[in-house]
Amino acid sequence: MTSHSSRIELSKSALKNNLEFIRQKIGQHPVLSSVVKANAYGHGIETFVPLAEECGVEHFAVATSFEAEEVVEARTGDADIMIMGILYPEDLHWVVDHEIEYFVFNFHRLERSREVADKVGKKARVHLELETGGNRTGLHEEQLDKALDYLERHQDKLELMGICTHFAGIESLANQFRIQQQEKNFERMREQVEQSDVEPHYYHTACSAAALAFPETVMDMVRVGTSQYGMWPSPDIYNMHLMQENKMSDAPLQPVLSWKTDIMHLNEVEEGDYIGYGTAYQAPQDMEVAVIPLGYSNGYARSLSNRHHVLIGGQRATIVGSINMNVFMVDVTDIPDVELRDEVVLIGQQGNENISIKSFTESIDAINNEFVSRLPAAIPRMIV
Ligand SMILES: *Cc1c(COP(=O)(O)O)cnc(C)c1O
Repeated sequence: MTSHSSRIELSKSALKNNLEFIRQKIGQHPVLSSVVKANAYGHGIETFVPLAEECGVEHFAVATSFEAEEVVEARTGDADIMIMGILYPEDLHWVVDHEIEYFVFNFHRLERSREVADKVGKKARVHLELETGGNRTGLHEEQLDKALDYLERHQDKLELMGICTHFAGIESLANQFRIQQQEKNFERMREQVEQSDVEPHYYHTACSAAALAFPETVMDMVRVGTSQYGMWPSPDIYNMHLMQENKMSDAPLQPVLSWKTDIMHLNEVEEGDYIGYGTAYQAPQDMEVAVIPLGYSNGYARSLSNRHHVLIGGQRATIVGSINMNVFMVDVTDIPDVELRDEVVLIGQQGNENISIKSFTESIDAINNEFVSRLPAAIPRMIV
């Protein structure tokens, strides 16, 4: 097999550490559903899922039936899978047949699920997602009675796995009033479910931020994405952790992902010459420049041109000129003994230096999740 221009490494010890930290926060009771939508937030479903299984994960959540199929292919055991987002009616048969759980947020989907379950000869495993104020997806309160009644009458075909909702920005303290309204709405609807004749296996509302900082949102299951990969959902949530621990700083979450490549070419550039396309960078002195074999087509944003840096020889090397489709240049003038094929760290640790995911997102006006989830699926992932 030929080589790709870069590689992503996943740290098993970091994932183990993160899952243990989340477990400390949520306690032993709840099921920990590992959210692996968006190619496991760019970590790569194919590599991440078996790794998570080795670390004790038995439940995965995805956004689409396409991703559910990727998890079916990647899992090594009999981990459960839950689809939280789009599920086309034509995929329902496959989903029910594979005993995959899925969110239902309209009444019609319950009826279709019963029909399909009947055909397949297996129960449809549904989570009723409730509209509590996010105004994204969710069953409206007026329809809850009708849905519960339907679920009760068709218990032989419909397994009520969960009653759930999703908070609209719980990672930001600025949203707390709205979140409290959502919590109240959920509680009221939960009581309605408890007074009905159906009983879900799980009540669940918590994403990473909720699980780490708002214990009242932790019920029978948590759906954790960003934090298991070692990213804090927001500065607010990190700060709440510090206040709780009474510490000035703490690093209980460790990044799982590193991104690396090698120097492709070394070049002497004379003072006054331009580097790369156009006039983006003019050498202020004689320079030594390393060419890095990836660019914006590989998820390295063009807006990082002339800013940001990589690690070479344990030191920071600043980007000079613009990021091209598949190469960019860095200044290595002050780094001793640089050679062709030396390791280049784009994200992660080298010597005493570290480049965080967060450092990127500040430069390109993205959030951590956006940046990692866009890392191309074609980059090979390996476990270290
Ligand atoms: C993505 C998602 C999560 C996970 O959120 P994180 O903040 O990454 O932990 C949980 N629930 C739903 C419905 C989601 O779409």
